[in-house]
Amino acid sequence: MNRNCLFCKIAAREIAGDIVYEDDDVLAFNDISPQAPTHVLIIPKRHVATVNDVADGDAGVFGKLVLCARSIAQLRGIATSGYRLIFNCNADGGQTIYHVHLHLLGGRQLRALG
Ligand code: 5GP
Ligand code: ZN
Repeated sequence: MNRNCLFCKIAAREIAGDIVYEDDDVLAFNDISPQAPTHVLIIPKRHVATVNDVADGDAGVFGKLVLCARSIAQLRGIATSGYRLIFNCNADGGQTIYHVHLHLLGGRQLRALG
């Protein structure tokens, strides 16, 4: 755990999070400022700052992030209508929280990326 990391604190239950899924490796919780009717953040419980810091040995847990997103999309009824998965990395990517997180966005038509 990184003591200065907001998402580590949510995973440790030191800060409240609206948690929708948890297992030994992965945590999913609703974004505090949702940009779509479904906006869930899916994180590895182990602190990894950015996608640049993902190690070869992390392939399993990062695969689990996608599987978790798929399952939540099915549960929310947006699998067929569609959704978007995003990792923002560093400043130009728009990353503001430096604990890797997969955004799951859906429930409305999302604009094309520009
Ligand atoms: P980023 O810009 O780093 O890709 O995304 C960070 C996301 O974290 C944003 O969508 C923001 O709304 C969300 N966020 C920031 N602080 C909190 C918080 O305290 N709780 C939750 N659940 N989400 C947060
Ligand atoms: Zn962290």
